[in-house]
Amino acid sequence: MQSVPPIPANGSAMERLRDRVDQIAREFLRADPVNTAAAPCALADRFAETRIPAGALGIDEYLDRLRDDVVAHAPRTSSPLYIGHMTTALPWFVRPLAELVAVMNQNLVKIETSKSFTLCERQTLAMMHRLVYGAGDEFYGRHAQNGDSTLGAVTSGGTLANLTALWCARNAALGPSGTFPGVDEAGVAAALRHHGCTDAVIVGSELMHYSIAKAADLLGIGARNTLRVRVDAECRADLGELRRVVDECRRNRRRIVAIVGVAGTTDAGSIDPLREMAALARSVGCHFHVDAAWGGALLLSRTHRGRLAGIEQADSVTIDGHKQLLSPIGTGLVLFRDPGLARTIEKRARYILRRGTWDLGKRSVEGSRSAAILFLHAALHILGTDGFEQMVDGNLRRTAYMAARIGERPEFELLTRPQMNILLYRALPPAFTRTPGVGDGERLNVFNVRLQKEQRRRGRSFVSRTSLERGPDGAAVVALRAVLANPLTADAHIDGVLDEQAAIAAGLPS
Ligand SMILES: *Cc1c(COP(=O)(O)O)cnc(C)c1O
Repeated sequence: MQSVPPIPANGSAMERLRDRVDQIAREFLRADPVNTAAAPCALADRFAETRIPAGALGIDEYLDRLRDDVVAHAPRTSSPLYIGHMTTALPWFVRPLAELVAVMNQNLVKIETSKSFTLCERQTLAMMHRLVYGAGDEFYGRHAQNGDSTLGAVTSGGTLANLTALWCARNAALGPSGTFPGVDEAGVAAALRHHGCTDAVIVGSELMHYSIAKAADLLGIGARNTLRVRVDAECRADLGELRRVVDECRRNRRRIVAIVGVAGTTDAGSIDPLREMAALARSVGCHFHVDAAWGGALLLSRTHRGRLAGIEQADSVTIDGHKQLLSPIGTGLVLFRDPGLARTIEKRARYILRRGTWDLGKRSVEGSRSAAILFLHAALHILGTDGFEQMVDGNLRRTAYMAARIGERPEFELLTRPQMNILLYRALPPAFTRTPGVGDGERLNVFNVRLQKEQRRRGRSFVSRTSLERGPDGAAVVALRAVLANPLTADAHIDGVLDEQAAIAAGLPS
């Protein structure tokens, strides 16, 4: 048994530990394999011990276990050949900054535990607010560093950002009036009664992220009251359907808490018609939320930002730092057009969060929160809009490259025209012609599921899969899903991924 180094560790012990961790990290950051073949259940007995060890484990022995049992079997999400999910490589400066964030252990819940970091977080929110809404110097001079103004909130991710936005929307839609204290005080049942509504709903497309249903559940709206209208062939919310559902809700006195537009759906990267949805929300006087967790990064490209036109009319916008803004997992944002909106969720406590306070915790879901905002603050400064623009443009160019290759190869079929850096396609087994016949759908689906699983098992490269409610022949279709967000993914990697899929497909029985 070794003794645990005291805190702070003496210099040489710390250096040795750093070297070892560095070695483990370097080994992890190789390009391949992207996955080991071991299934989770096959690894489970390495993690079966449920008693906390009585005696301290030496740090070397612990690191050995960490390396062999945990790190060795973690997917290499940073690999240029891992193009299946929204989690990807991080810039070099994240590693040393992560140590600073951990060492300083600031708590953003209140000013007394984070003074300058609170200001730094507010500044970052203001920069992102300006990127979305483009208000003027006078506006930001008044609100950016004003403890009573909330331009946005930092959360652990898009899920809590969406929840925060819809929490504000619900409290505004069912707010205080006369002697009624508001839904936050009185609860949903009393609020609906007071406002004369039968229930409350959230309206969007069937491709809304499932975090919207979680929010509806948590907010007492009910998950089934997220009304999901169908999408068109390009995976965008169908406007006619949307208008019809909104009309029907109003006729039946169902209170619309929010209309939700998605800018970059998780499934397909499609962008809802934001301008038209904003106009619809305005015409019925309800909150318009845009979930740009994935697609918000497009705002940093002069070439592509026009695709999000209408986002500046949203009452609230979600953008994930850890999706496309080069921040590690644990960084989400919600932005509010009106700096006073978040007063609808304000809570106080006697020992902190007092009236007039700057404490960020008074208007947030979470309590204690890390200084994770530093990663986004750093990325925005170190890369600048020029650096981000290069990255975004590069990712969209890579997507166009992959779409073109898929279009040329008879073994594949593109399923939707990409609007961002996510591609949906499928493999056609050699037995099929270029255009599969009606009735081949289910066989093709089974074939593509097996292909995706086999590629994952082999571990050389990775794409994910999803399904579309309505494919080319009108029935549900399994799609291979490529997410092109890694600046290190070169055209040759893309060719390699397709070659591997073609080879696997050729060997699978169709
Ligand atoms: C990823 C994603 C979310 C959820 O974000 P988390 O950071 O995973 O909580 C919400 N909406 C969309 C469109 C997303 O892509």
